[in-house]
Order: sequence, then structure tokens, then C-alpha cells
Amino acid sequence: MTQFEVHDPEVLANARQILDTVSGPAEMAQAVVDAVSRNEEWRGKQCLNLLAPEAPTSPTVRRMLSAEIGTRAAEGHIGRVNRWFAGTQHIDEVESLCVELLKKAFRCNYADHRLMGSMIGNMAFYHALVQPGDRVMTAAQPFGGHSSNRHDGPAGTRGVEIFDIPFNSETLDVDLDKFEEEAQRIQPKIVVMGMSMTLFPLPVRQIVDIISPWGGKFIFDGAHQAGLIAGGQFQDPLKEGAALLTGSAGKTFSGPQSGMMMWNDPDLTEPLTEAIFPVLAATHQVNRVAALAVAAAEMLEYGNVYMGQIVKNSQALGKALDDCGIPVLAADRGYSQSHQVIANVGAFGGGLDVAHKLAEANLITNKNLIPGDKPEDWDRPSGLRIGTIEVTRLGLMEADMATIAGFFKRVLVEGEDTASVQKDVLAFREPLQDFYYNFDNGWPKGR
Ligand SMILES: *Cc1c(COP(=O)(O)O)cnc(C)c1O
Repeated sequence: MTQFEVHDPEVLANARQILDTVSGPAEMAQAVVDAVSRNEEWRGKQCLNLLAPEAPTSPTVRRMLSAEIGTRAAEGHIGRVNRWFAGTQHIDEVESLCVELLKKAFRCNYADHRLMGSMIGNMAFYHALVQPGDRVMTAAQPFGGHSSNRHDGPAGTRGVEIFDIPFNSETLDVDLDKFEEEAQRIQPKIVVMGMSMTLFPLPVRQIVDIISPWGGKFIFDGAHQAGLIAGGQFQDPLKEGAALLTGSAGKTFSGPQSGMMMWNDPDLTEPLTEAIFPVLAATHQVNRVAALAVAAAEMLEYGNVYMGQIVKNSQALGKALDDCGIPVLAADRGYSQSHQVIANVGAFGGGLDVAHKLAEANLITNKNLIPGDKPEDWDRPSGLRIGTIEVTRLGLMEADMATIAGFFKRVLVEGEDTASVQKDVLAFREPLQDFYYNFDNGWPKGR
């Protein structure tokens, strides 16, 4: 009898079988190392990774992630008196460089570097800034919202009342008139926009103006857009009146997967910082902090051009897919001003099947809810989200996006055997093995 698991029980049973079959713990460890190698070979070298929340890190960032400093414990805030442990002076150097680099990258007064993920950044502000029973307005998933700001995520754990930000399902924009009407009635303490599906800038300033009269605060959960914001290729939420910006370090920001948080108001410093420690983080992976600091420096040098190319590539990819007969949202608005394009693949079997079919041809994407889907359709939505971070860091430009769209067409529109498309994807990917826009490899060459 199989015991109940939330994880896929078959996959776990497979792992148990491996552990039961090998000769001992050394081979168990080897099984882990082998799986990592298989992923590195396939996803790392042979695939076109078009997942929007994923970025390849530079060689130096990767080196930092396996550095000795990652074995050191450094609980607490930066500085001799603030820590529990002695011997942390070089750790303080690394962490303070990281904090100051984040402030520079985001042009703000305060930043924190200790978050294991953007999700934890969101948990930190829900802990620091709201009380049970408070009213918050956030975006629902079919319009791009994320569980972190919904009942099933950090927001839900705080017992807040959650109201939907109204969207126009044709334009995918916030319906500002309706928002104003509902916000006046609800008077939310905070409004959070955290968009996992993100194509265009959001009306931050307008929302701030609407909610300021009763002291409402706007929080920009910029998990996806953080790199674009740092690179000056998206709106600057803090300049537009957001009280707080949270972000993932491993999405467009192209650092180690983890989180960061930035703000300007000194009154928020104590509650936010103390929600991170001692509430949500203790030993916070100093290797990851070092990697994040290097990624922030890369963003200062390369961010503007790198992020600009990501946006140009997503626009070119949107157009190319559309030209290939794969409908893409927001065609009339130029498809995107971010790293994402969203295709409606309902006619090709829906997001789940399409994403898995494309993966057979080494094209990695993900299913996505789109307007018209219901939140409960999350497992079988009609949309497909495609991101251009990694292909851009591999040095690809707008013209290359037509080649990529051609692979999609062969799988989806022409129904060609995925094995034969995979062959051509492999040939296209094989010479592309270096990541650019960093101090190791510099700018893309020869394109
Ligand atoms: C990805 C995402 C998160 C979670 O970020 P992690 O860094 O993976 O914890 C939070 N909010 C939004 C809007 C996201 O898209």
C-alpha cells in the first residue's frame, strides 16, 4: 500500500527503489550527483530554456555559491554587536557590500539581502505591516497574480481579508475606474501587485493617489520584474510611490535564486528588518549573499543593455510566434514590455500538454492561466508563458527569435514529430554555451 503523499507518490517510489537497489550510502550519494549531471547536460547544454522565472547565472556567481563562506553561520544583523557569533568580520564585509550594491542597483535608501525567496520577502511584509482582519487588495491568478498574495500563500496565513484588484480582461490592465470605486468602499490598508504574468507597466502612481487619503500603502511584488527595474527597462515602482519593492534575485535579476527587498521610508526599516530576523531568517546562506552581491554589480555594469535586449527579444518572439499561427496576447500593444510573452494555446491542447510536448523537443516553457480561465483551472489552463532571459544571456538577438518560433511552429502547428524538431534544436543550441553580460564573458560576441 502506498502512503499518502502530496508529492507524486510514483516519483517518490522510484527514488525509494533506487535507494533499495544500490549497494550502500556511497552509491546513494552518487545517484544524487548523477541526477544533477543529467540535468546539467540536458537543461544546461541542450535545451532552449524559455521559462520566465529562470535566469542563468554568471561563472563568478556560480563560484560564489559553492564558496567556503557558505559553510559559515552568521545569524542576525550586520555588525560586531548585532551578531551572536565572533569571527564574522569578513562576512560583514560581504553582506554590507551586498546591501550597498542592492541600494545602488535599485536607486533606493534601504535594502535587505537575507531572504531565501521573494515569497519570504512577501511573508516579511505581511508579518510587519498587517494585522489579522486587515483588508488588502491583490491581483487574482488569471490576471497574473501569485499565490504569495492570496489566501493560499503568505497573505492567507496572516488572516487578512483579500479583495481582488479589478482588471479589464481584454486589455489585461487594471480597471482603474472600478478600482477607485471598490477601493473607496473597501479602504484597503495595503494594495499589492505581484504579477507572475507581466507584460506591461502597472498604474502604480494612480493607485497610490487613490489609496493615500486613508493611509493605504502600495507594495510592488516585483519578483519577476526586479532585473528590468534595476536595468531601467520597466517602471521604477519606488519612484512612483510604492512603499516597498520585493523581488526574486533569480528571475530577471539573474542572480542566485533567492529574494531581496528595497524601500525608502525610514519608518519601515525597523518593522521590516525585524520581520526578517528574528522571524523568518537565521543563518541566511552567506554564499548566496556573496553571489547576490556579484549579480548586483553585474546589473550595474550590464543591466541596462542586457535587460533592454531581453525586452526586444520578447517583442520579436511574440511577433514571430504570431506570424507562425500561434496566437499571442496583446498583439495590438506590441506583445510585451517585459521578458515574457503569453501565447493562447487552447487550440493546440492547452498549456499543460503543449508545455510537455515542447519539452520533448527541448523547448522549455510553462502552462499559465490567462483571462478567461478560472483559478481552479490552474492545472490545465489555456495559456503558455514564454520568457527570454536565458536565450538573451546566451547572446541571441531579435533575428534569432524567428528561428525559435519556427521550432514552436513545427511542433504545434505542423504536428511534426518532436524527435526530429529536437535534433534541430540541439544543433542550434550546441554552439551557444557561454552566458554574456557579466565580468567573466563580457558582451555578446559576433552577433
Ligand atoms: C515568483 C514569484 C514569487 C515567489 O518568488 P520566489 O523568489 O520564488 O520565492 C512571488 N511573487 C510573484 C509575483 C512571483 O511571480
